[in-house]
Amino acid sequence: MKVYEKAPAKINLMLDVLRKRPDGFHEVEMIMTMVDLADRLELSEMKRDTIIISSQAGYIPLDEKNLAFQAARLLKERYGISRGVHIHLDKHIPVAAGLAGGSSDAAATLRGLNRLWRLGLSHTELQELGSELGSDIPFCVTGGTALATGRGEKLEPIFSMPQCWVILAKPPINVSTADVYGKLRADRITNHPSAALMREAVEARDFQAICGRLGNVLEEVTLKLHPEVLRLKEAMISLGADGVLMSGSGPTVFGLVSKQSKVPRIYNGLRGFCNEVYAVRSLC
Ligand code: ATP
Repeated sequence: MKVYEKAPAKINLMLDVLRKRPDGFHEVEMIMTMVDLADRLELSEMKRDTIIISSQAGYIPLDEKNLAFQAARLLKERYGISRGVHIHLDKHIPVAAGLAGGSSDAAATLRGLNRLWRLGLSHTELQELGSELGSDIPFCVTGGTALATGRGEKLEPIFSMPQCWVILAKPPINVSTADVYGKLRADRITNHPSAALMREAVEARDFQAICGRLGNVLEEVTLKLHPEVLRLKEAMISLGADGVLMSGSGPTVFGLVSKQSKVPRIYNGLRGFCNEVYAVRSLC
């Protein structure tokens, strides 16, 4: 038997860091939403009691470092399952891009194996399991649009992101999330974006207010390390995007665009700056 799952990418409409906690994690406030750029997972039962990961993407780990592997192993251990699974990851989300590709694959694995192995777990239970593997995984289990607090694992769904176009551009550089958080001086942040104001704008489905309230305190670190991310933001603005922000710890920059007629100009203009450019719809 086989099951299929879609694992969409996420963007942060706002990301604030409140403080560094004694346990080493950062206390954050983020509003996240899914976009229609997704990995596709095929989960097939195997006779042998083992976990196999395969992918057409040559640049991700296929062993126990893969988050989909870790999600499958966690379910097997926690529920004493002695069945094997082959997980094929058809990757479309750029890797190490600030788009939570690995987290979304892990969340899709939890959802898919819950069906394949008929475990009957609720989304809340899958989110609790996911939070053991990574802070973004609980959000990716349900998707939609949500306010995430704590280290990102406490979620309040928000109704609902207005439909728009999202242009994603990833410069050809690698950014480590751990490195960016490591370099952030949480006590020195002066310009905190407001989760309350962004939530209000999303709930009012006020596209212009959403664009005006975009903010990410991690830009301060990543833009200093990689000025090309700042140049990419400036290019997106001058090409006509309504609102522009770096997603997560970067380096992907996204632009929100309400009018479809503007999309080709922005998309084609950005292709001069970087090879990885996507024009997709928001997912409410
Ligand atoms: P986040 O926004 O949650 O910080 P990201 O988009 O920056 O995530 P990912 O694409 O999840 O980053 O990849 C981060 C690292 O995780 C990669 O360097 C990769 O080696 C590893 N990884 C583990 N599992 C996966 C997976 N299923 N897909 C992609 N990368 C994975």
